[in-house]
Amino acid sequence: MDPQNASPFIQLGSYYLRIDDLNAAIQRLETAIQLKPGDLDAHELLGHAYYRDNDLFSARAQWDYVLEIEPKRKNLAALYEKAFREESVEYDFNRWKSRHFRISYPQEVPNSLRANVFSILDRAYIDIGRQMGGVFPPPPIHVILYLADQFSEATQLEGHIGAVYDGKIRSPLTDFEGAWLPEDELRRRLTHEYVHVVARHIAGDNVPWWLNEGLAETLSRSLRDGDVNRLREMYAEGAAFTLYELEDNQINKQPPTTLRLAYLQSHATVELLWNRFGRAKMMAFLNALGSGMRYEEAFQTTYRRTFAILERDVAAMYR
Ligand SMILES: [Zn+2]
Repeated sequence: MDPQNASPFIQLGSYYLRIDDLNAAIQRLETAIQLKPGDLDAHELLGHAYYRDNDLFSARAQWDYVLEIEPKRKNLAALYEKAFREESVEYDFNRWKSRHFRISYPQEVPNSLRANVFSILDRAYIDIGRQMGGVFPPPPIHVILYLADQFSEATQLEGHIGAVYDGKIRSPLTDFEGAWLPEDELRRRLTHEYVHVVARHIAGDNVPWWLNEGLAETLSRSLRDGDVNRLREMYAEGAAFTLYELEDNQINKQPPTTLRLAYLQSHATVELLWNRFGRAKMMAFLNALGSGMRYEEAFQTTYRRTFAILERDVAAMYR
């Protein structure tokens, strides 16, 4: 009704960001800023849109402006630092795109490896999309590939973390000795991270850690004999976590051996749900989470049982 009112454009921009339609978001937010220059919300959101589109320089320009006026703006200084770090590692990276993915990668990467990465990702797009009931997130899905030391520098993650999804898939292509990762290992890591893309597309950020990681593990690799033995030991020692303890991303800060067990238990838990109750239930669970339901309420509505019963069922399998 009032074409000069910036506020609906800001809200639309925020909405399009939420559903990953970056072009639509950028357009609305730029309009909002034309109508109301200096609106901090609009500038901050536009920064987010550019960042998600992997235009780090433009993102920082928006956030710079906001931080100049309001240095203590919630979470923004940390995000600005993150973008700055990434930009300093990735400034001379090559870029390449397919229908669904945009890839940035260091100049050292041979064309054959780049082609391999694309075929792994395109395969995951189809396979995981189908396995999860026909879910195909809109392009662009950003993938940033690094040498091992660049990965540590850009993400500040420790050496035992294989890859990460933080709105963009980030993975090293080499080990710390500089050798290219074997294709199987690369496929496992990229497929794992791609499952996170799909889960986020369905349920946003309202996914417990164990479900997110368990699903990514279940759909990217099988439990091996060694894993099963380790799970048996863990349950025999009474060292298993509660699902409540595995809810939060803080678990990532645990030492490598503890974290490894947390992954294994999450994998075993989701594998049981997937094998016993099927894909449709899993998707219903994710959709319930996507509607904003609390974790256990969404679980109970879908599976007609409590977390305590699920914990007991998983424990029974490894006795
Ligand atoms: Zn993961």
